[in-house]
Amino acid sequence: MPHDPPLDPTIAANLGQIRHRIAEACARANRPAEAVTLVAVSKTHPATAVEAALACGQMIFGENRVQEAEGKFPALRPAWPALRLHLIGALQTNKAREAVRVADVIESLDRPKLALALRDAMAREDRQPRLLIQVNTGDEPQKAGIARAEADAFIRACREEHGLPVDGLMCIPPAEDDPRPHFALLAEMATRHGLATLSMGMSGDFEAAIAEGATHVRVGSAIFGRRD
Ligand SMILES: *Cc1c(COP(=O)(O)O)cnc(C)c1O
Repeated sequence: MPHDPPLDPTIAANLGQIRHRIAEACARANRPAEAVTLVAVSKTHPATAVEAALACGQMIFGENRVQEAEGKFPALRPAWPALRLHLIGALQTNKAREAVRVADVIESLDRPKLALALRDAMAREDRQPRLLIQVNTGDEPQKAGIARAEADAFIRACREEHGLPVDGLMCIPPAEDDPRPHFALLAEMATRHGLATLSMGMSGDFEAAIAEGATHVRVGSAIFGRRD
């Protein structure tokens, strides 16, 4: 290791609390605590914050932007071989190659053009990050994600026509809605397609997501603090 990782008592305490709340939510849902993976969303926070979380045993991180991920994570990998990076933000087709290079999981596959770009990028890079399909469960016009009515056909096309390594589904419910029905809808869709991974729930609603079957929760501000 090039240097000792920085310790941050606030991040350590926050992580401890989130882990505890995940365990409690799992217990209430009669699910084992290991059924839920915490993705620590470090967007806008510096690499030192990521290192502080790594020093607490947190190995799985989420970033929104390819460029920011490239600036933080490749340099950390030699010292932390268990580190895994999820890209969770809207992805431009022209960033597919960089995304495939930097990420272990891409959670935001949401349109046919991107499916083709990722397929080509994986072939060229000889690297296969796992993929989640983002569903726009609220059919919000400004939001990323495949529209609800197109989701079934898109999921099938990604797996069967394009042969993509699709593990599951992801959603971000509308901010003003009760998130529970959106989580339930996503869970039902995943079951229908035999998909095991469900990425849903953020700082404000991860316990509800766990009750509805989330296997991955994406928690940012409750670990790293407010973003500017
Ligand atoms: C920022 C972000 C999160 C984390 O949000 P918090 O409310 O800070 O926990 C989760 N998922 C996605 C897709 C995000 O962009």
